[in-house]
Formats: sequence, structure tokens, C-alpha cells
Amino acid sequence: MTANTHLFLCLKDNFGVLVHDSETGATAAIDAPEAAPVEAALKATGWQLTDILVTHHHNDPTAGIAALKRHHHCRVTAPRGEAARIPDVDATVAEGDSVKVGALSARVIETPGHTSGHISYWFEQDKLAFVGDTLFSIGCGRVIEGTPAMMWQSLLKLRALPDDTQIYCGHEYTDANIRFARTIEPQNRALAARAETAKQQLAQGHPTIPTTIGEEKAANPFLRADIPVVATAVGLAGKSAADVFAEIRERKNKF
Ligand SMILES: [Zn+2]
Repeated sequence: MTANTHLFLCLKDNFGVLVHDSETGATAAIDAPEAAPVEAALKATGWQLTDILVTHHHNDPTAGIAALKRHHHCRVTAPRGEAARIPDVDATVAEGDSVKVGALSARVIETPGHTSGHISYWFEQDKLAFVGDTLFSIGCGRVIEGTPAMMWQSLLKLRALPDDTQIYCGHEYTDANIRFARTIEPQNRALAARAETAKQQLAQGHPTIPTTIGEEKAANPFLRADIPVVATAVGLAGKSAADVFAEIRERKNKF
């Protein structure tokens, strides 16, 4: 079994991504921000859409589902806690459930905070994780329906994945995220290196993802709230990681 991925932009700054099982030909879209770019990606790859795996109920990851479902009769898998707010759902999943895309297999990780029922899909064997709007490259999603403590716990679950796990997120926000991260950890060398790489990628019109858990652990301040130097940087030395995380998230909201 081999998973192939195909990444593309939708709307203004949303990522769309296809995951394809070369053995069975099954292909999943992870979220569906817009039907047309997904159709274009299917045409470019020659893949047949069999599945849509939804991370959360917001309009941007779900707006393309109805049209894609009509055209491809694909199976729509969605988080159980949000299925009522997502169109055309066939299967609902929760923590620990397994989702098949042909012969590929993903484990569901509940990652609430951005929305209350947000989930991520971890293809362990293929070292891929699709994390929606929970973890971004050098950032994290806004805490809209949950609490900062809940979001921190969700990020810890993703941080516990193997370092070489490739991370696909819902938005191209890396440039702004790096500018913010440097206000928290101006001396972080991994962050400086990442800034240089991202600058080159963006200048060439390339996406800045996938990133990896290892890279994010080294440079993403939202995954580093339990490191003393980060707590000190935001004036909260000795406070809990959840408090430090909440402060960093609040600063980013105002950045
Ligand atoms: Zn969202």
C-alpha cells in the first residue's frame, strides 16, 4: 500500500488535498472547500474520488461537499459531534475509530478547540496527518468553540505523533505565523531556518506544507507552551502550560 498525496489551493488561502491509494485506486479529499479546484485536481491526477474526510463543520472545509457528492457519489465521513452541521454525511466517526480509504487506514484523533467536535485523521503507516484548523505550520487555529486548555490538550495529542509525521493543515498562514512566532522566540534557530525556507517557497509560489511534527516541535510556539523559556518570554514563568498557551493564543489574536 502506498499513499500518494496531491496538494492544491482553494478559495483564498485554504488548502485542498487528495490522498490516493495506488493499490485500489481509492481517493479521498480531505475537506472540500470548493468543488472546482477538487475537480481540477482529480482531472490533473486522473484519480477517482471515492471519499471525503471532513475535519470540522465550518463553511470553508465543507462548501464543496454537496456538488462533489452529486458528481462522484463518494462516501462522506465526518466528526460525530458535528455531523448535523455538515451536508450529505454517510459515516460519522469519533476518537480511535479507523477510517479506510481503499487499503489505506487512518485513525481518528479528536482535536476539539477550534470547533467543539473537530477531528484529525492520522494515517500511521503512511506517516501522514490531516489536522484541519487545529495545528498550522508555525501556528494553530483560533479557539472558537472550545477553551484554550482544550485546544492545548488537542495540540499535545498531535505533538505526541512521531516526529517524521507529515502534517497537512487547512490554511496557508505560514508567513504571518512566522512573523508572530518571532515575537515570542526571536532567538529560536529552528524558527529562523524555517523563516528562510518559507520565504523561498512562497517566492516561488509553492505551498509551505506539509510540515512535520518534528519541525513544529522545534519552531511552533503553540507546541512549546510547556518550555520554560517560552513561559518566561510571555511573562508567565512558573505558570501552567495551558495558561502560557492561552496567553500566546491571545497575543496572536491581536497580532
Ligand atoms: Zn475552521
